[in-house]
Amino acid sequence: MNAPKIVIRGLNKYFGSLQVLHNINLDIAEGDIVCLIGPSGSGKSTLLRCVNQLERAEDGLIWIDGVPQGWKEKAGRLVELPTVDVVRQRAKIGMVFQRFNLFPHFTALENIIEAPIRVKKIARRDAEARALALLDKVGLRDKTHAYPSQLSGGQQQRVAIARALAMEPDVMLFDEPTSALDPELVAEVLTVMRSLAESGMTMLVVTHELGFAREVANKVVFMDKGSIAEQGEPEAVLFAPRNSRTKDFISSVL
Ligand code: ADP
Ligand code: MG
Repeated sequence: MNAPKIVIRGLNKYFGSLQVLHNINLDIAEGDIVCLIGPSGSGKSTLLRCVNQLERAEDGLIWIDGVPQGWKEKAGRLVELPTVDVVRQRAKIGMVFQRFNLFPHFTALENIIEAPIRVKKIARRDAEARALALLDKVGLRDKTHAYPSQLSGGQQQRVAIARALAMEPDVMLFDEPTSALDPELVAEVLTVMRSLAESGMTMLVVTHELGFAREVANKVVFMDKGSIAEQGEPEAVLFAPRNSRTKDFISSVL
């Protein structure tokens, strides 16, 4: 068993009076590939956004590498972090969304080097060298100077993955990265994600691609109405679900 990378305990999240996460407990070890599945509205995106501190939960804690997110330990107590430190913690986590969110007026290269230069203060020359290596990795070296409008959805999503990797994250979160793509473009994005998984990256992936979950994940988590209803090895959760809601969901996706 590898070292714990993400530990979530007792997470409860409300939007107004609506509770959208109920007592979430989840352990993700270094190098784990965890696929999060579940019906629309079950809280998958909210959970990812809590991990990335785009949302703050009312109760519970998330630790990454043993560090409580949004908090620091001071004199044996937990104290809320100021925003600037939250930004620093968040930089260790890469996130890829359903919509690629590339800057439209920047080329692929410029999209990738922007945050390393602005946030990490990396020299432009070094940021560019690394960006070119990342473009190679996602198979888009020939699109270095292309603008998003000149790229297919699958290519844009691969640039978005390269852009997230440019910050050298410890963990990658994916929120339905292929859901907005035409079917013929899904495979190229999953191929990049698979090779990232093979490189040892810790990944938490919201997806309806159950084939990907079965082949690549070492844990599948089924969420329903804000709770984790079932979790375990892919074969168990996908092929022998114990929960009737998991069963219904899987047959609705297949
Ligand atoms: P999923 O990603 O599984 O589809 P979400 O995490 O997006 O689910 O949403 C979970 C629930 O929280 C839904 O009922 C949704 O309407 C609600 N919700 C999500 N974001 C907000 C928000 N910013 N304000 C109010 N309600 C929200
Ligand atoms: Mg969602």
